[in-house]
Amino acid sequence: MLDHFSRSELACPTTDQVRLAASFGEALERLRVELDAPKHLTSACRSPMHNAKVRDHPRSLHLIVNGHWGTGGMCAVDVVAIDGNFKAKFIALSLDQDWSVGVASNFIHLDQRSRYCGLRQVVYHYGR
Ligand SMILES: [Zn+2]
Repeated sequence: MLDHFSRSELACPTTDQVRLAASFGEALERLRVELDAPKHLTSACRSPMHNAKVRDHPRSLHLIVNGHWGTGGMCAVDVVAIDGNFKAKFIALSLDQDWSVGVASNFIHLDQRSRYCGLRQVVYHYGR
């Protein structure tokens, strides 16, 4: 599917569907290539059923069907990130490439809200 990400890594865990916003895969690959290190996804596509199951926001950018934003597919991923140096490098690079970034203790959420939703780029923290 993509050079560095398998279909199963991108698919919704509940329905196995994969649907990416137009050119989102290219943006994800570009970030991976510039990072020059493995990037493991813990969450990518979510069907509305799975999104409800994990109690995410009903307008989540992980949704493969997003009536509110009309993204045409998922435009957010969660990436494993525990090591501090990796996090710092990864966040800086992501911001340079216009990703919005949510930082948690063991993962980083990335989305392209500025590209697909016309929203401002943001950085936020999930708290403890
Ligand atoms: Zn996320």
